Amino acid sequence: MAREQLVDGHGRQIGDVRVSVTDRCSFRCQYCMPAEGMPWLARDELLRFEEIERLVRLLAEMGVGDVRLTGGEPLVRRDFPRLAGMLAKIPGVADLSITTNGFLLERDSQALVEAGINRFNVSLDALQRDRFYEMTRRDALPRVLRGLETLAAFPEAHPIKINAVAIRGFTEQEIPAFVRFAREHPYEVRFIEFMPLDADRNWKPESVLRGEEIRALVEQIEPLEPETREPHATARTYHFADGRGRIGFINPVSEPFCADCNRIRLTAEGKLRTCLFSINETDLRGPIRDGASDDDLEEIIRAAVWRKELKHRVNEPGFIQPARSMSAIGG
Ligand code: SAM
Ligand code: SF4
Repeated sequence: MAREQLVDGHGRQIGDVRVSVTDRCSFRCQYCMPAEGMPWLARDELLRFEEIERLVRLLAEMGVGDVRLTGGEPLVRRDFPRLAGMLAKIPGVADLSITTNGFLLERDSQALVEAGINRFNVSLDALQRDRFYEMTRRDALPRVLRGLETLAAFPEAHPIKINAVAIRGFTEQEIPAFVRFAREHPYEVRFIEFMPLDADRNWKPESVLRGEEIRALVEQIEPLEPETREPHATARTYHFADGRGRIGFINPVSEPFCADCNRIRLTAEGKLRTCLFSINETDLRGPIRDGASDDDLEEIIRAAVWRKELKHRVNEPGFIQPARSMSAIGG
């Protein structure tokens, strides 16, 4: 059943939903989770697969055809490939993607490809084992690299994107290795500016290593040529001038792309968030479990999305960091 296109009060058509399937994770990245002491949702608080499917179906009927599965770490949710398969079959879901830390890709790549996931983002912040450990607090680099190789063996999984969070004082040293990595493998490496969504609340404006600064450092090693930006794309992409390899920059802090933002988010416990930095969220699990009809849910979703924030205020005085950190939002 087709419904009217989902739009916000600023005239933006919403076409993309990020669905968090768990708040749990196998890593403890410095820029995301605390080293310990994170309280987990109880199992019953999580949306069930059927509830996620119902909401994604409803959103797809409203023109939200790009679905990205995330977390926490999505692959730690039990039976996750079955959920991916359920969502891939929904009419109107045009693109089903996943963001993962790669730790379980050796085990799951085949099941994910078979389930119908057609785009993969793998997070990887350092290419030296001790520095990977420093950032993720887990000694898992060899395993993540093996997982990537397993995934790369499936032609359907390409193009594979590698996401590296860029932090001043850390990432500069990784750049030569990432340039080699992007040139020697069929992966597009993308640097993401560090955002104030870390549970430890260590973010400072000075800790953001801006995309432009990284690009200048990359160009000292290999010249780049810009590519045309797709509508709603978060990344500015470049290829190396000799045609070997691609690299991208996601610059939410230094070059916010809010004006063009077509995304909403659903947390693991069923809260609808209209911005990464939202202070308010809208509960969908309660109404679902209280017997709301699809039309009731549509009304709640439309009202929430109508109030989607015009832009984030990270660079403004008085910015308030959301109570939730990235792993609890679903990045
Ligand atoms: N666990 C999966 C992973 O790491 O790919 C999926 C969830 S993770 C929250 C999604 C993405 O958000 C990852 O690429 C991660 O690097 C990024 N991220 C987490 N905290 C961030 C922060 N404070 N600033 C920028 N990106 C962040
Ligand atoms: Fe886990 Fe991803 Fe957050 Fe790292 S960024 S702690 S892998 S959820």
